[in-house]
Formats: sequence, structure tokens, C-alpha cells
Amino acid sequence: MTQAVEIAKSVSQAGEELADFIQRYPKLWVITGAGVSTDSGIPDYRDADGQWKRPPPVQHGDFMGSFAVRQRYWARALVGFKAMREAQVSGAHKALAALEAMGFIELLVTQNVDRLHQRAGSKRVVDLHGRADLVKCMSCDYTMMRHAMHSEMAVMNPRFAALDARYAPDGDADLETDFSTFKVFDCPRCGGILKPDVVYYGDVVPPARRLAAQAGLSNAGAVLAVGTSLMVFSGYRFCRDAHGLGLPVASLSLGVTRADALLTHQWRAPLTPVLEQAVSCLQSD
Ligand SMILES: [Zn+2]
Repeated sequence: MTQAVEIAKSVSQAGEELADFIQRYPKLWVITGAGVSTDSGIPDYRDADGQWKRPPPVQHGDFMGSFAVRQRYWARALVGFKAMREAQVSGAHKALAALEAMGFIELLVTQNVDRLHQRAGSKRVVDLHGRADLVKCMSCDYTMMRHAMHSEMAVMNPRFAALDARYAPDGDADLETDFSTFKVFDCPRCGGILKPDVVYYGDVVPPARRLAAQAGLSNAGAVLAVGTSLMVFSGYRFCRDAHGLGLPVASLSLGVTRADALLTHQWRAPLTPVLEQAVSCLQSD
């Protein structure tokens, strides 16, 4: 199957094929990525070839090691996090929640940190890379809601709070200015460094979360990757493991994936219409 043929396939055909796949392997282990949330207005880092289309996100070590990096991070987040707060669930989120309600999903593992799957009604979800709506103290584990921290920082930094810029992925914004006067809100309990409860590049997925995702794989009949290039190893590894277990691995995505060589089924098509078509086929059966 050439890629050109795949792309040319009509949405409705892809939806029917996906429905067949789901009927054949009804205990799906689903992994989702940024593509599922771009319809919700949350920007993406990578293009259809899986390449960076903007500077990569802040690295864990840089965030922890540099006050200036944290000033820049939080000043930009005051603007950019609005994209996540204002995001509405997309048709893709709703279709995946419907598939779970119909009993087809064993586990949904998301690499997104926006909690939109839960808002759409999915219940069996592992937030592999954490939650952007929480912040956690890196010294004492004190946890608070992100919006509460932002409110504190907006009061501390009225000039920054009034700025505007184009939204960027992960609650970031394309804001460039002198960040050296930005006041960062520290842990109210111990004064430690607060960080979004998100796995940054350069950090590892907490073992309990990785094991929860892996446990779901051992009960699953197949893997379905949706809207992810699987470029990040923490997501790719599960597809490699599934392939090793002899499970079919399918992908629905607009672009290439790192796991293309492992895929048994691939639909390069827009997510929402294909998922909605699959749900409607399965409902009418
Ligand atoms: Zn603390």
C-alpha cells in the first residue's frame, strides 16, 4: 500500500475499514497525541512528516536549573495557557468516548496533557505525560490547580498579564520581551519550585503510570494510535511492545509515524470524520 493510495482513500472508506478493524479487535488499546486536540484549537509541535515546525519545548533540566528560563516560561504561559482553558472537546474526543461507552476500548493512553478526553467522557484514561491543569512542588510535592497559580502571578505581574501573543503548544505563547522583571510564584508551603505536573522532554514518565499503560496492553486485542507521530519514545515503546506481542497495530493520523514499519493498518486521513464514520458504522451493526 503506497502512501499516495492511502491519502487518496475516501474518508468514508477509511471509516468503514476502521469499523471493521474495531469489530475484529474489540478490546482496543488506544494511544492518542496532539492531532486529536488540534481540532480543539490547541497548537501542535510537529508537521505531517513528524518534524519540529517550531522550536522544541523547554527541557526539564533547563526549567529546573535556570530562574531565567522559569521567568520566561511562566510569563509566556500567562498568555498561552488560555488556549488550553478555552479549548472545547473535538469530534475526535467525542467519538473515542463513544467507542469506550460501546465497550470497544480497554484503555486509552494519551500523550496530551489537556484533559480533553476526560471532558469528552472517556473514563479509562492514562495521562501518560501528566496534566497541564496542575502544578506540583518539586521539593515537597505540594499540588495546586494551575489556574490558581496563574491568578496569583497575574496579580504579581500586572504588566505581563495584560500582554497578548499567538498561542503555542503546551500552553506556551510566542511572546518575546524582557522577562527579567517577571515574578515567579513559588510553593506556598516550602518556597520550592513549582512546575506543571507534566513530563517534560528530558524527564521520564513516572513508573506507576508507565506500568498502568503496559498492564492495559496485556489485556488488549490490538493497538490503535490516533493523531500521533509516535516520535516520543515513551509513546512509541508501547507500539514496539505490542508488535513484539504479536498484536495488530493500526494508526489513524494525517502524517507519518515513527512506527510506520510496525503498522498492520494505516489510515492517513482527518481524524474526526473518520472516527465519527466508524462509530456510526458500529452503531448501525
Ligand atoms: Zn513545596
